[in-house]
Formats: sequence, C-alpha cells, structure tokens
Amino acid sequence: MSDNTVPFCRTEITPEAQQAALRVLASGWVTTGAESFAFEQEFGAWVQAPYAVAVSSCTAAIEMALRTLGLPQGAPVLTPTLTFCGAVQAIVHAGLRPVLVDADSSTLTVSAEGVAKAARDGAAAMVIQHMGGYPVDGAELAEAAGIAPGTVVEDAAHGLGATVGGRPVGSFSRAGCFSFYATKNLPIGEGGAITTTDGELAERWRRMRLHGMSGDSWRRYHRSGTWRYTVEDAGMKANLTDLQAAIGREQLRRLAAWQQRRAAIAARYDAQLGGIPGLELPPRPATDTHAWHLYIVRIHRRAFGTDRDTVSERLGEAGIGTSVHFIPVHHLPYFRNLLGLDACGELATADQVFPQLLSLPLHPGLTDSDVDRVCEALADLAA
Ligand SMILES: *Cc1c(COP(=O)(O)O)cnc(C)c1O
Repeated sequence: MSDNTVPFCRTEITPEAQQAALRVLASGWVTTGAESFAFEQEFGAWVQAPYAVAVSSCTAAIEMALRTLGLPQGAPVLTPTLTFCGAVQAIVHAGLRPVLVDADSSTLTVSAEGVAKAARDGAAAMVIQHMGGYPVDGAELAEAAGIAPGTVVEDAAHGLGATVGGRPVGSFSRAGCFSFYATKNLPIGEGGAITTTDGELAERWRRMRLHGMSGDSWRRYHRSGTWRYTVEDAGMKANLTDLQAAIGREQLRRLAAWQQRRAAIAARYDAQLGGIPGLELPPRPATDTHAWHLYIVRIHRRAFGTDRDTVSERLGEAGIGTSVHFIPVHHLPYFRNLLGLDACGELATADQVFPQLLSLPLHPGLTDSDVDRVCEALADLAA
C-alpha cells in the first residue's frame, strides 16, 4: 500500500482518550461504573437530551427501545429496507415482525407516502433512520403511518449532530438510539446510547441493560455496594464499560470540531463534483442540519459512462476506499426467507437506486488534498 492512499475510514482515538483508557485500566474498576455515568451526563448534554442511557451498541438500544413498547409477539414494525441489517435484526430480537418500507428516490430515507403504503395492513411501531445524516421527521412519518409518535424508535446511528425542526436529533423523542462503532461520528470502537424525554423509561433501561437487576447492583463488587439485588423486569446484557465510557468522554470534547470538519469536506465535494454528468450529489435538507455521517453519491451509468461497481473498483486501484450503504434488507437471504419476499415489486425504488450508490471517504482526518484527489479521480473516470 502506498502512503498516499485515501482510506474510506480511519478511526481517530485522540491522545487524551488513549490516556483516559490507560487510567481506567490501572484503576481496578473497568466495567460499568462512575465513568459510564459521567459519559451519560455529558453525552446527554451534548445532544440536549433530558436523559441518556449508555449501552453496548445501537443494535441493543433499538431492541431495548422496542421491547419497552410492550407490543404483542409478532406485531408489525415498519423499517426502511435501505438500512443496516443489524437494525432490522433488532426488530426480530425484540420478537416483532419487520415490515419493509421502500426508499425515497431523492433523500434515500423513507417518505410519508412510502410509510403510509407499507402501513396499510397495520403497523404497531416504526424504526426511522437518518440515512447518511439526512434528518428525518419521526412525528410526520408517525402521522402518515397512523401510529402514535411515542411508538417511533429512532435509529440515530447516522443522526448524531443533525437537527429536525431546529432541535438536535435525540433531544425530543421517546427513544434516540446512537452508535459509537469505529466508523461513526463519535467513535469509541464499540458502544451505544439511548436518549429519551422520559425519566422512568431511562431508569427502566438502566436496569434492563444489566440483566434487569435493581438500581445500583453494578456496585455489588464495589466497596460501597451490597450483594443484595432484585430482578423485576426482563433483562439483557447490554451495558457499556468504563473503559469505553472514558474514551467516549474524551472523544466527545472533539465532536463539535469533527462535525464542522465533516460539513466542510461535504461542501468541498459539492463544489468540485457538481459539474460531472451522471454524478448525483447527496441532497441537503431545506433548513435543518445534516450530520454528514456519509457522503453518498449516485452513479447514473448511462450519463456517467461507467457503472458503480467499476467506479468503485477503479477508485480502489487508485488507492481510494469507498463503500456502499446499504444492500437493501430484502436482498439478503435471511430476511427474504423470514418475510417471504419472493416478489419485491413494492420495493422498486430501493432496487432501482441500490446499483447507483457509492459512499466516498468522509472522516475528519481527511485533508483538503485527499478530497481533491478523490474528486479528480472521479472526474477522470467520467471523461
Ligand atoms: C452502525 C449502524 C447500526 C448499528 O450500530 P451498532 O452500534 O454497531 O450496533 C445501526 N443502524 C445503522 C443505520 C448503522 O449504520
């Protein structure tokens, strides 16, 4: 590998975060504890959420948020088909049935019409997803689906830093589920959080994430703890460790600057790629803030002169990493079998846009000249 490659992603763990990890490792307490609680406070403050609960992953967060809706087994839950497979696995883990919603051809999220159509045989709840960082209005979609806004679970894995109606994603809903996976806007490596406006629900999730055990039972091996506990609720094993939390607290200090850098990179891509025929740029929300988790372009084969797979291969040969978000869920054999999707005519837009999708490198460590290199390589391929 030459040293002037442009990787699709590179996880930056700041020197301060590395120091914090060492401090926790030496402290004698490495699992859920004081660092985790401090991280919850600080993360909640960052997204302006009344409550935040730290968990092991966004996937676990979605499952917990769905479980606490108290729906009957097998109840139908709307989800985009153009999303990450794990978010749909979470619906299955919660004992519910995913009902796939087609993609919107412009935003790649879901539209009110798409949701209404998918809900015509009934819907009990809905998972929404801020695709690539493009903000989605859960209340508007809930209305279109004929369900209560409180039954919307936000998969905000891409939504950290976005706003809806001027308010930060995660600050105003029943359940905003975030991911701190290595590629995400706030990378820890692994980890997640749920934010909520409901304090009782936050307490319930705090018990649920650790086997359903009562209150402070994480302290039971600590000087200030006791071995006594009770279990009054179903539980999962989905706690965040203090090691991760300490890294997250330091990473959080850089998040605002990282978000600014992501937006600047997106603007630089826009400026240089705008004139290339057959290359469609990601849409921007009219007034709200885009989180710029991904910069997804669409390659229109005829006008561009080359198809997406070839473009991705050629860029790879030039040392430029790309990815595709996402393979539609209804293309994946497990879900096809589970949901019995032999005829997928109703998910026509996702089928149509999937072969066009290409995610370009977008991470705060990219330099302007890295971005220029990607743009020049794309322009050369189009010619
Ligand atoms: C990354 C991602 C997830 C899963 O996050 P984990 O923390 O790895 O469980 C869920 N949904 C979307 C859209 C994602 O990109």
